[in-house]
Amino acid sequence: ETITGRIAAGEVVERPASIVKELVENSVDAQATAISIHVEEGGIREIRVSDNGMGIEPEDMPLTIAKHATSKIYTLADLEAIHSMGFRGEALSSIAAVSMLTIRSRAQSHDAGMELYSRGGKVEYIREAGLPEGTSILVDNLFFNTPARLKFLKKPGAEAAAITDIVSRLILAYPEVSFRYSCNGKTLLHSPGNGDLMGAVLCVYGMEYKERLLPVDFTVNNIRVSGYIGSPNWTYKTQKAGSFYINGRYVKSAALQNAVARSYGERLMKGNYPFYVLHIDMDRSEVDVNVHPNKLTVHFSDENAVEYAVNNAVLDGLGIFRR
Ligand code: ADP
Ligand code: MG
Repeated sequence: ETITGRIAAGEVVERPASIVKELVENSVDAQATAISIHVEEGGIREIRVSDNGMGIEPEDMPLTIAKHATSKIYTLADLEAIHSMGFRGEALSSIAAVSMLTIRSRAQSHDAGMELYSRGGKVEYIREAGLPEGTSILVDNLFFNTPARLKFLKKPGAEAAAITDIVSRLILAYPEVSFRYSCNGKTLLHSPGNGDLMGAVLCVYGMEYKERLLPVDFTVNNIRVSGYIGSPNWTYKTQKAGSFYINGRYVKSAALQNAVARSYGERLMKGNYPFYVLHIDMDRSEVDVNVHPNKLTVHFSDENAVEYAVNNAVLDGLGIFRR
């Protein structure tokens, strides 16, 4: 195992929130339309992600936690046009290595399901089990065998807040999926999953946002920018209120953030930032969202073109004609 390999794996399971993200993206890859996320004690005691996706074939069960085992890359062409979220086949193996992991799954074409239990990456058993269709993954006692990393975590409340942040973005990224998120037995978020982004925004931010949002839908040079922006007389003191989803993935981009701010121009008082939830859909070969294992940064072949699209989409949403 190389050093970089270990660093990459370490980042996947850095904290409970990153585990939640990996598990949910696996569920999305499996075409789930309903995903439930439950955490106890900030995910340190337990993380449970269940979905109604296509499930895991019985013979694939042992492979799920094998290092670099993925069912998602078949050819080099696949590599170049990656549609799925994960493709490195290292999330489950890395999570398994530092927890007590249970995978329960029934593939759509099978009558019975399979259950795998592993402790610290060592498979204790794989057995048949009566299960509903779909997959349920339980991560118990995170970092039980790596006390140094356990010490590195924040208090359960802070880890839970980080999970809530991630789940919120996942809800905004996948409005066609119904999410249910609960923390210590209390349901905190429940998104409709009817494909309507407005519903997802109201679920995350609250019903009172309804009156404050302006719709955006603008396409230029094959780049479509759609979603919602906040009305200009209603702004935030923090940049955190804005988020971008490029081809379905949440990303951070200072350049695009500035493009939005430029569109608001003087309508934005000094020290204030706009609210926005913007989906950018573009040719997958024009964008690299996988430069970092956390997949939050993004590189464009033509950044100016994307800035231009965002800038004009927001101007259009604000009802301002381009100068
Ligand atoms: P990757 O997502 O990069 O392929 P992971 O380690 O995240 O690797 O997952 C390993 C494999 O386990 C996946 O390729 C997939 O075949 C299977 N898997 C994991 N989670 C699910 C799920 N929720 N539904 C169906 N299959 C899953
Ligand atoms: Mg994955």
